[in-house]
Amino acid sequence: MIKKITFDTGIQGKHLLVLGAIHGNEIVGPNAIFKVIDDIQTYKINLKQGKVTFVPICNFNAYKRDVRQIDENLNRMIKYCEKPITYEQKLANEICQLIKQSDVLLDLHSTHCEGDVPFVFCDYPTTDNLKMVNSLSVDYVLLGWPQIYSGCTDIADYSTEKCAHDYQKIGVTLECGYHKEPKAMNIAYEAIVNVLLHFGIIDGVLASLPPKTTIRLTEYIVKKKSGYLCQNYKHLDVVQKGQKLAKYDDGEILYAPKDGYILLPNADADIGAEWYYLGVRE
Ligand SMILES: [Zn+2]
Repeated sequence: MIKKITFDTGIQGKHLLVLGAIHGNEIVGPNAIFKVIDDIQTYKINLKQGKVTFVPICNFNAYKRDVRQIDENLNRMIKYCEKPITYEQKLANEICQLIKQSDVLLDLHSTHCEGDVPFVFCDYPTTDNLKMVNSLSVDYVLLGWPQIYSGCTDIADYSTEKCAHDYQKIGVTLECGYHKEPKAMNIAYEAIVNVLLHFGIIDGVLASLPPKTTIRLTEYIVKKKSGYLCQNYKHLDVVQKGQKLAKYDDGEILYAPKDGYILLPNADADIGAEWYYLGVRE
């Protein structure tokens, strides 16, 4: 059973659901959520209307072992499973229920490379989702994740965001930066507070934020055989058309097809897994 805590004002308003550690080793979300819970319990944060449910640690067994997952990637399988077998299938059933019972989802993640820049995934850029994105103090928004996987049979995309969208809820995924970067916890904490403000669950006015850079994902590249990335690429590095991005050990070279960005590069990707993504500015 997933541990959660709900604060209900008893006054009509939005019901926000905040998730942490969908991936067990992403400790930024849990740390920020525990701090917000403490601040609500000690009246440093005062709720005005609606309610908020926190799940600081969705994947508890993976969190305890400091690993991403136990049996499978929880953020690729958030859908109801009639006869759950794996640990994550059992979790997914509970998480689906929680998403269904709420109005708004904020899913907090962190990333595995030092220096990673925070950004927000907005897989379903509805007016409400884009307004929510604009309440978050990060500089980059990534669009188009579902589109690059549409028609793909070997990689399923049942994310928390997809589940929220399917239930006609508002919802985005925030990548707060590197797991061990202290500032990442502040970004996650601020995001929760800003979303509470945005939906009027707490009193106050959102500070105006600078405009964000919006990048549309155009494709993902699967590592097909043994090889390496040509540079120590970081997420959101700018690439130019024709630039060498990766080289297979048999000599085949992968080039950037156009000017844009390299996204979510994983130098340690297994063969058959996503190696890096490409995107262009909207
Ligand atoms: Zn994650």
